[in-house]
Amino acid sequence: MSYNSSAKGWVLRCSTCNNIWILEVSFDIRNIKMLYHFCSKCRRNTFHEVLGRAEESVVKDE
Ligand SMILES: [Zn+2]
Repeated sequence: MSYNSSAKGWVLRCSTCNNIWILEVSFDIRNIKMLYHFCSKCRRNTFHEVLGRAEESVVKDE
C-alpha cells in the first residue's frame, strides 16, 4: 500500500456556509458526493461537497 503517501487530503465545501477546507484523510472518498462531517464554522455536523483531491487543486502556483 504505497498509495497513502500521495493522498494528502480532500477539499470539502460545506453546503450550509460554503466554507472550503481540507479534510486530511488517507482513504479515498472521490466516489462520495456528499459527506456528513463536522464543520468548524457551523460548529455542527453538516453535509459537505467533495470538490477533489487537495494536492491537485492547491499545487498550481506560478
Ligand atoms: Zn459550515
